[in-house]
Amino acid sequence: MRKALQGMTPYKVKPEFDMIRLDNNEAFMSLLSSVDLGELQETLINRYPAESSEALVKAYGKFSGFPVDNIIAGNGSDELISIISQYFLDPGDVVFVLEPDFSMYEKNAVIMGAEVNQISLNEDFSLPLEKVLAEIETRKPKLMFLSYPNNPTGQLYSVIEIEEILSALQLVDGVLILDEAYIDFAGESPFAKKVISYENLIILRTASKAMGMAALRLGFLIANDQIIEGISCIKPPYNVNTISAQIGTQLLENPNVLDQFLLIQLGQIAELEEILTEFVRKIVGAQLFPSHTNFFLIKMNEAKALADFLYEKKIKIRFFDGEKLKAVRISAGNKEEHAKLRTALNEWSEMYAQCI
Ligand SMILES: *Cc1c(COP(=O)(O)O)cnc(C)c1O
Repeated sequence: MRKALQGMTPYKVKPEFDMIRLDNNEAFMSLLSSVDLGELQETLINRYPAESSEALVKAYGKFSGFPVDNIIAGNGSDELISIISQYFLDPGDVVFVLEPDFSMYEKNAVIMGAEVNQISLNEDFSLPLEKVLAEIETRKPKLMFLSYPNNPTGQLYSVIEIEEILSALQLVDGVLILDEAYIDFAGESPFAKKVISYENLIILRTASKAMGMAALRLGFLIANDQIIEGISCIKPPYNVNTISAQIGTQLLENPNVLDQFLLIQLGQIAELEEILTEFVRKIVGAQLFPSHTNFFLIKMNEAKALADFLYEKKIKIRFFDGEKLKAVRISAGNKEEHAKLRTALNEWSEMYAQCI
């Protein structure tokens, strides 16, 4: 085993399909009923998939507005994060990530033997822009990853902040990876139209969240011609399986279904916000953050106790119990799941009231 990998721990998630799953930011509903499964019957599973998922990429291009030639499909955006890391990083290169942010950035950088520089967000989860710019100048990162909106905080940064980071990175030959996994919940990306005109910007998208296809593992990388050409050279051939690509293509070719689905989700997100707003009012010091995603973060000292309690009630949420961050992250569910969540939260806050 390589030295750089010592101390790594597995990314373990128990397959608890019998629980109410509000822990993973997935969509609460499957769209498979809108898919013509007859077409899948015709699939030649004896043949390798389309090498670069041509039909899927074409459908995603049409759906998203990105030029088809500037899109690479991946086996989830997780695979694309890994491929980006393999493409750019030599051992010892510096990679910037924010804290908190999606953990896969750091993991993949470490796998490549890069040196990870974590920059903590401000208390309110805004960007410490001056610090980021100063550190880019001194430490000259090869890559900077950030999720936009941020997972787990749910926040967006301003366009000007991102543009200043892009300019600062450009001066040190650094590339920014803007992971827009949740952008559909936030509206249109201000960078989508311009991405290919930047020398040093990569956008990541996924079908796992607003499109509700996490099981299929479909991700997309968008960048200028030069980056696409380079990354194409190291992308594993046949990386997206035929069945996933076919289902994804069908749904992407049916934008009405996806648009309707987004509206339903936005309604549920609003409902969740209402439930959580009511809940935090009863908990001393608890702070609910506004969100541009399908989940909410609540900073609270009792994060772990609450998550344990909900787990007993068969409701799974995500909690953070570190030095820096004590919080729960809860993603939107369906009506029935929300009703159970509301009841359980009421029960917990009554117990809490008796303890303080
Ligand atoms: C969920 C998530 C992903 C994972 O996407 P996949 O396409 O399912 O691999 C990527 N980035 C962020 C920030 C996420 O929260």
